[in-house]
Amino acid sequence: MTEYISPETLAVHAGRPPRDDPYHAHVAPIYQTSTFSFESVESGARAFAREEGGASHIYSRLNNPTGQALESAIAALEGRGVEAEVMALSFGSGMAAISTVMLAAAGGGRIVAQDALYGCTHDFLRDQAPGLGIQVTFVDTTSTEAVAEAIDTHDDVRMVFVETPANPTMRLCDLEAISGLAHQAGALLCADNTFATPYHQRPLVHGADLVVHSTTKYLNGHGTGVGGAAVGRDPELMDRIRTFRKNLGGIAGPFDCWLMLNGIRTLALRMERHAANAARIASWLDKHPAVLRVHYPGLASHPQHTLARRQMERGYGGMISFELEGGYDAGVRLMESVELCSLAVSLGTVDTLIQHPASMTHACIPEEQRRAAGISEGLVRLSVGIEHVDELIADLRRGLGHG
Ligand SMILES: *Cc1c(COP(=O)(O)O)cnc(C)c1O
Repeated sequence: MTEYISPETLAVHAGRPPRDDPYHAHVAPIYQTSTFSFESVESGARAFAREEGGASHIYSRLNNPTGQALESAIAALEGRGVEAEVMALSFGSGMAAISTVMLAAAGGGRIVAQDALYGCTHDFLRDQAPGLGIQVTFVDTTSTEAVAEAIDTHDDVRMVFVETPANPTMRLCDLEAISGLAHQAGALLCADNTFATPYHQRPLVHGADLVVHSTTKYLNGHGTGVGGAAVGRDPELMDRIRTFRKNLGGIAGPFDCWLMLNGIRTLALRMERHAANAARIASWLDKHPAVLRVHYPGLASHPQHTLARRQMERGYGGMISFELEGGYDAGVRLMESVELCSLAVSLGTVDTLIQHPASMTHACIPEEQRRAAGISEGLVRLSVGIEHVDELIADLRRGLGHG
């Protein structure tokens, strides 16, 4: 598919069955099988000899054709504009992808990680990684200076790990600047691209070595499965991650891969609408008297809007967070009055999801620590869906009381 470069065409076509498919299947079939039989002892031996490169089919913990179809679609989307061949590996969840990548690429060294990461990524780094031979330094990676200082003070940094835009503050990390710093120190940059998706942001083009995804979110898009992916361009590094995947066992099942691949077919269309709706809602909220601040990279008032314009493309995604003037109680009131928006964690589904970190996802974290991470009592996170934007605004207006 190298001759096609648009996300619209690649999302629809990448990972389609080959022309010589024995049944001329139009859509990638689900190979719901645990094992693959060999025609002869000799072909079995050949399959095992090829297994290193992931080219053969032996057993579905190693490889499965449905998973490979998904992997080639994700690689095509993340690899647009990258000189080298880009590879993707599918995982049973975003966390399986993230933990496997960290163990494979940073084991025995140090990870400099963003201080406000997705909750489970943060937990893994804080509570489990040190016992598994990975030292961790948390810094505010939205500040390039803070990353430089952390890299300077430690000589064992193997990886810098960032999420951009960050959850739920919607602050950005400067991928180009951070990858330069990481590479100078012989370290890798790994970016979690779940929020932006390859439609809006291609970290590999901006210097990242690895991209991870929770495909559970926008890539699936319909909330029908849990999955993950790791993407990169260094064949040796990807082989190492593949071996860790084989032995840790976090590969995705064929049916889930098929759901993800079907979701990807409409990625460009969905992201276009998610972003257009989010932009409308962000500017409406920005003028609302009950709203103190809106965090959306597409707003000119976002402190890193210039970076957003350089690093993101075709818009700024569907995630918004905003702070309510009335604090905690106003957050609870909004949660209780919306009808169209579902009260739910997760994100990236076709319908709109709303959540209030202080009373929901981050309720277990002491208020002081929440505030330090930029999560105020009135902060609300919105995963804007693809419904009619006027009806979404009407739903929020009801919940905000006036304006
Ligand atoms: C959901 C999420 C994850 C974890 O993915 P799972 O599929 O739930 O394991 C990681 N990073 C980000 C940014 C997420 O939103």
